[in-house]
Amino acid sequence: MDCLFCRIAAGDIPSTKVYEDDAILAFRDINPQAPTHILVIPKAHIGSVAELTEEHAALVGHIFAVIPQIARQEGLTGGFRVVSNCGPDAGQSVPHLHFHILGGKELSLEMA
Ligand code: AMP
Repeated sequence: MDCLFCRIAAGDIPSTKVYEDDAILAFRDINPQAPTHILVIPKAHIGSVAELTEEHAALVGHIFAVIPQIARQEGLTGGFRVVSNCGPDAGQSVPHLHFHILGGKELSLEMA
């Protein structure tokens, strides 16, 4: 499948990795919107949050257990934001499930 994040997960396209295990990968966003901007993806292809089912409960739980580890590793002691854009109205530009971790500054509260 020609999916950018599948290719990054496979190592065919380079990324700046901050965490990796058998199921997930975290790497730095190429166009950071905050001093720390990391993307966390499952290695298996899932299009977005809209495709999640109970079947993915363990995987999503794992992602959310690793996110605070990454935040600690990155020194985000002041807090951070986790965002997943889902579909065109949310501006999702890469159709492979990903969670943005944003931090390192006081983030705007604007949500829309
Ligand atoms: P979204 O717009 O929520 O789908 O987020 C996709 C994100 O992927 C954007 O923040 C892009 O900057 C980021 N991105 C696109 N290509 C790459 C890449 N090759 N390496 C790292 N981040 C990327």
